Amino acid sequence: MTVRVRFAPSPTGFMHLGNARTALFNWLFARHHGGQFILRIEDTDRERHTEAAVQVIYDSLKWMGLDWDGPVLRQSERLSIYHEIAERLIAEGKAYRCTCTREELEAKKEAMKATMNRACYDRTCRDKNLGPDCGTHVVRFKMPLEGESTFDDMIQGKITKKYSDLDDFIMVRSDGMPTYQFAVVVDDLALEITHVIRGADHIDNTHDQIALYHALGKEPPRFGHAPRIDGLSKRKGSPSVEYYREALGLLPQGLINYIVRLGWSHGDDEIFTIPDLIKAFDVDGINRANGEFDEEKLKWVNEQQLRLVSLETLADHVLPLYEKKGVKLERGPELDKLLEMMRKRAHNLNEIVDDSMFIFRAPESYDEASVAKHFNAETPALLRELASSLSEVGTWNEAEIEAAFARVAASSGLKMGKIAQPARTAIVGIAQSPGIYEVVYFVGREETLARLERAAKFAETK
Ligand code: GLU
Repeated sequence: MTVRVRFAPSPTGFMHLGNARTALFNWLFARHHGGQFILRIEDTDRERHTEAAVQVIYDSLKWMGLDWDGPVLRQSERLSIYHEIAERLIAEGKAYRCTCTREELEAKKEAMKATMNRACYDRTCRDKNLGPDCGTHVVRFKMPLEGESTFDDMIQGKITKKYSDLDDFIMVRSDGMPTYQFAVVVDDLALEITHVIRGADHIDNTHDQIALYHALGKEPPRFGHAPRIDGLSKRKGSPSVEYYREALGLLPQGLINYIVRLGWSHGDDEIFTIPDLIKAFDVDGINRANGEFDEEKLKWVNEQQLRLVSLETLADHVLPLYEKKGVKLERGPELDKLLEMMRKRAHNLNEIVDDSMFIFRAPESYDEASVAKHFNAETPALLRELASSLSEVGTWNEAEIEAAFARVAASSGLKMGKIAQPARTAIVGIAQSPGIYEVVYFVGREETLARLERAAKFAETK
């Protein structure tokens, strides 16, 4: 049997981290078993869904690298299929038309809550055999009245519910749109889905869905309900992929490595490459206990990935960020060298970019504390001497640049730190940066000389 799983988001306008984890679990399961991962957009709630919201789903999945197999299925394009199947179930006496109005239902519910402590449809229309000309109506499923619904959840174990606790749920709304409960079964059958991995909030729906499979004379897929992720709603900002991607400057590998561990484990292993995950992932590693979202941990995992991914991958993610800041960079050994330098100290992609902007932009002003600490009456002469020494460098590389600094140290009698800190302040604008020789290397000879002279003039006015 080929494993076929699906990710079935509703286009809400953002990719909730819980949904991203569902997508990831399904994708990893498919890739681990050499199966297929299908994308289905549950867009029957037309009023709420916009194309921009659908695009968010594509963009988030692409960014995470969760590629799907075959064409995307859009529920909104399948209305005639849902209608046909609903008609068939009505004809077979397994579903029925119901003309109860919203007001009537509300009144009934209130009465029921008072007596039964729960509200369900009282089945007024169940045996009326209403035809298509009964006026405004919905189509309801005829739930068995006796017995139990049981399924063996791949994660939660056996789950049982009495049919008498299940409702004659609506399959088709009065506007002709299928409900989630109905469309999900029709589509999972059409797609020959073998396993459904989704959030534990769908456990109750599963009983309704299995009853529908039986009514259609089909075997349901295997279900696995993953635990909830706690602690997301307390956060500031939307708990979405887009938000965390931008606000924390995450690598997709960082986000993936973090969210996969919110509900799945593989011994004590914490850091995984994507191929490691594909190899290690299976449903038996998914826990029953809820995951607890921890932003600090997410940042830490991301930092590990920043050092782990290839320079090419890193370039894929930082190049667009540089471009947003107006800096167009080419791939190649120079960029690799820059990224190698920056990723050693940065915690995320935003820091790599922000903390290296000094290379492309001369300082507009000098940090006051750095000036107070590192500039004095001798600074103009010192910076000019350094400039002169750097102008003599033959091959522009770090070793030669270091030698140029050493010559200034020898002639001035100053320790290296007493030269490096004013030089940093002059070149970067603040006495904090990667190694000074690397800084000078990347800023380039001409620009370094210009910045040293500008800072010397500034220091003269002090
Ligand atoms: N559209 C549903 C959701 O986003 C899909 C649930 C399911 O996987 O069946 O929750």
